Amino acid sequence: MSIPITLIEQGQIWSFPGGIHPPQRKQLSNTTPIATLPLASEFYLPLRQHAGEPGELLVSVGDHVLKGQAVSAPGLNNALPVHAPTSGTIIAIEARPIAHPSGLADTVVVLSADGLDQAAQPQPHSLSSDRTQLIDALRQAGIAGLGGAGFPTAQKLALQRPLEYLIINGVECEPYISADDRLMREYADEILRGTEILMHISGAAKALIALEDNKPDAIDAFKRVLPKYPAMSLRVVPTKYPSGGEKQLIQLLTGHQVPSRGLPSDIGLLMHNVGTAYAVHQAIDLGLPLTQRVVTVTGENVSKPGNYWVPLGTPVAHLLAHAGFKPEQAQKVIMGGPMMGFTLGNLQVPVVKITNCLLVPGAQELSPPADEMPCIRCGACADVCPAQLLPQQLQWLAKANDYDGLNKQNLFDCIECGACAYVCPSEIPLVHYYRKAKAEIREIAREKSKSEVARERFEARKQRLEREKQERLERHRLAAEARQQAQQQAVEQGAPNPNDAVQAAIARAKARKAAQAAAAEQAAAAEPQDDNP
Ligand code: SF4
Ligand code: SF4
Repeated sequence: MSIPITLIEQGQIWSFPGGIHPPQRKQLSNTTPIATLPLASEFYLPLRQHAGEPGELLVSVGDHVLKGQAVSAPGLNNALPVHAPTSGTIIAIEARPIAHPSGLADTVVVLSADGLDQAAQPQPHSLSSDRTQLIDALRQAGIAGLGGAGFPTAQKLALQRPLEYLIINGVECEPYISADDRLMREYADEILRGTEILMHISGAAKALIALEDNKPDAIDAFKRVLPKYPAMSLRVVPTKYPSGGEKQLIQLLTGHQVPSRGLPSDIGLLMHNVGTAYAVHQAIDLGLPLTQRVVTVTGENVSKPGNYWVPLGTPVAHLLAHAGFKPEQAQKVIMGGPMMGFTLGNLQVPVVKITNCLLVPGAQELSPPADEMPCIRCGACADVCPAQLLPQQLQWLAKANDYDGLNKQNLFDCIECGACAYVCPSEIPLVHYYRKAKAEIREIAREKSKSEVARERFEARKQRLEREKQERLERHRLAAEARQQAQQQAVEQGAPNPNDAVQAAIARAKARKAAQAAAAEQAAAAEPQDDNP
């Protein structure tokens, strides 16, 4: 299925099913320039900050590191490295809570800042380097998708397929969040330079820069610099949640759907976030790894809402303190936006590569979760689902742990946008059930793959032992044959036949046994008889 190039070139915008229009509330944070945050005294660097396996640790407790120095290396399975956000000393490597809905702990490198902020020598790259080298440079820079998914950028680029368009996603459709908006207003040229590099590496001849129509200043900023980049065009889509979902935006810009469980590259497209494009420019042109990102801090309970350049690993508590945190009783701090974010259980968790927002709402600002009531089968959730799923059925199947049923209902096409839960009159936390079911299905798959590997290893060992046994038997047979031949040759050349010696030894043994038996009989006959009855 090919995309309609002519209509796309004419600037046509299509639509996607479902979607909602929650209050935007972006003005709380988007009116001031991105601010710089004073350095924290300690940084917590989880080895896993992206979608994939953690990298391999490169440092030990007591090591001194410079800003930008890798503390882990890319390992297997698309692992990404993590870099020190400032100079200082590694004071611990331990399991600590990380920013994740599960609240679980993971391996974290603890860096005590020395306050000098001394940087390692940057290593810029030239676009004349070959494609593999540039992809590796992005991997070494630790770049993951900054839009929220955290997929390794190098891994996306390594998929080599003919591409029609690179899409740069600046839609940022979730209420409250304005990190991409401010980045686009202030760094439009750098984002487009990153886009140019991504086009060069991916082989895409054209790029579409997509924004929602609620960001007029960012649109103007791009319009000012776009003449420098003739292969790129701007696309402004109507404000509707979740227009920024990868599949939804592709549908808006091309009228085509990415197949279920498929990739944009299946229909000749590749998508990266504006923040990722900026990070790509930094890594290639300036040789700077990913050590900071823009984070929106917003909500009624911070006195200085806005956007901040935050070194990765900064504790949430430090960022909130500088944003004028005014906690009230039972204060909720949400990492992410009101639709897809999750409540933090611990404010010492760090800002990581995929942290785009901290939302600190007042008691009346977001309606508190009400008690879950039974589903009344109103169908409102299905009407708004942008993935055309049946959320109420998914919820029943998830509660019944019916994983086959969930797979048949395409649970993994759910983008966890929360539109269904937003409209549900029964206050059912639908996304919670989907996330839990997905995690369980992934765990079962992991266990299955582990036991499959163990079974394959067992079978391989069994086969090896059998093969070695057969080889041993064969060696013994050949050795016996060789011995026999050698004896035969020796006998033919006049040597005594060893078989004769064997026969003579057997005869001697038989004679000795017969003599011993006769002596025993004689001794028995000579013994006196007992007369008593
Ligand atoms: S919106 Fe809620 S109550 Fe209505 S069908 Fe969906 S899950 Fe049931
Ligand atoms: S969370 Fe999933 S099921 Fe609910 S509306 Fe979004 S995509 Fe559909």
